Amino acid sequence: MQKINVVPRPNAVTYTGGIVCQTAFDNVFEYTVSDPKLGGEGYCLKLEPSCVTITANTAKGLFYARKTLEQLKAAETIPCVTVEDTPRFSYRGFMLDSTRHMQSVEEIKKLVDTAALLKFNTFHWHLSDDQGFRIESEKFPELNEKGSWREGDDFGSRHVAERYGGYYTKEEIKDIVAYCAERFIEVIPEFDVPGHTTALISTYPQLSCRNEQIAVKTKQGIFEDILCAGKDETLKFVYELLGEIIELFPSEIFHIGGDEAPKIRWKECPECQAKIRELGLENEEELQGWFTSKIIEFLAGKGKKAIVWNESLAGGNLPEGTAVQMWMDPKKNSVTWANRGNPIINSDFYHYYCDYPYYMTPLKKTYNFSPVPKGVAPIMERFVLGVECPMWTEHVYSFEWLCYMAFPRFAAVAERGWTKQRLCDCADFENRFTAIMPLIKEKGVYPAPKNEWNYNPAKRLGGTLSFFADKIDFELVANSLKNMKK
Ligand SMILES: [Zn+2]
Repeated sequence: MQKINVVPRPNAVTYTGGIVCQTAFDNVFEYTVSDPKLGGEGYCLKLEPSCVTITANTAKGLFYARKTLEQLKAAETIPCVTVEDTPRFSYRGFMLDSTRHMQSVEEIKKLVDTAALLKFNTFHWHLSDDQGFRIESEKFPELNEKGSWREGDDFGSRHVAERYGGYYTKEEIKDIVAYCAERFIEVIPEFDVPGHTTALISTYPQLSCRNEQIAVKTKQGIFEDILCAGKDETLKFVYELLGEIIELFPSEIFHIGGDEAPKIRWKECPECQAKIRELGLENEEELQGWFTSKIIEFLAGKGKKAIVWNESLAGGNLPEGTAVQMWMDPKKNSVTWANRGNPIINSDFYHYYCDYPYYMTPLKKTYNFSPVPKGVAPIMERFVLGVECPMWTEHVYSFEWLCYMAFPRFAAVAERGWTKQRLCDCADFENRFTAIMPLIKEKGVYPAPKNEWNYNPAKRLGGTLSFFADKIDFELVANSLKNMKK
């Protein structure tokens, strides 16, 4: 019997017999219903020989039914089926780093179209980092004049002398946010503090502990100069800039980073140390927790909630209820956080980071990874909001390369976010993804060829080693590791 090829795999499909005629697609009926089983994102799609009927509780559910239909229609013969489908997780995100390398608005829209086809509902947009600040600011135009530009690229073995940079204008951002909204994708912007802030400090050295002029970074890494948490001026600046940025993003959630913030400057800074004493804190990690909680308080005043990377848990004083994005967490602080009844999102470095080669993270490894981290108590699994696949772009400087790295791995993560565990099977996924590849290519997104999805172990080792030999600056890695321990 002919089976249907849909990614993510629908959670319930009944084959009702017979074949759908092409004319059925001229008779598509949509109804909004009130069916508790379907929730806010679910849908029912019924394909009969001469008509198609879609029902859902919401416009979003109807949209997802149409996305399933779009994939079904691409097949030569289509069996009559009833699909009743609701997602496993409420958060299904993909992350795009537009700081290390930017993508054009048109390229981002291609990615968003493909994400919508796969029923992603969140676009986490990384817009500020050491290598550039990418949001137009009318309050702080110097930030765009200085902080949005760097003197070339020195990522790994790639050296480009030309000045690189730019930023998304407010109009461009609004355009992308609206484009996403039409596809039921929420844009969560990330403004990373207190680390990864060289672009801010290069423009306003007084925001750092040493007040020294530093340049926007051309290399990747974890850098010692971060925002000074001891100065009142720093939070005042963050509030003003955030206040301006918030206006562009209707999402209730705002990402404030919090990752990879070495404490070496804070340890030596009289103002940071005075702040620690004034607040009766134990150490610099607690100072970061305090700094983060002040920003969360500010966001709450604007009706917004925060997401932070898992390092923000290190101080032990993150406000309860804050969503934590787990990426690299050897101490399993995120698991403890979820077990205490707080929300987490799984974007595990070793499985979901799509900027590493298929040699290191083959498709099977991504696909077979459980979205619920080990150690989360079964009764607390509902605090795992979902999954996210990040695409960092230090080494991903063209859109073609980005698509090659992202697909099919993004699709694998989309499926793990949507489809129940017992229906997940990697070989089956690969067949279905292959069937819908032409549809994805039509959107201008070209996935990696199938023979590169899963290399054999010998090839994997060689390929991974050569990737690191070529891409990574070992001096930087050593410094970064040293800093992580501080
Ligand atoms: Zn300081």
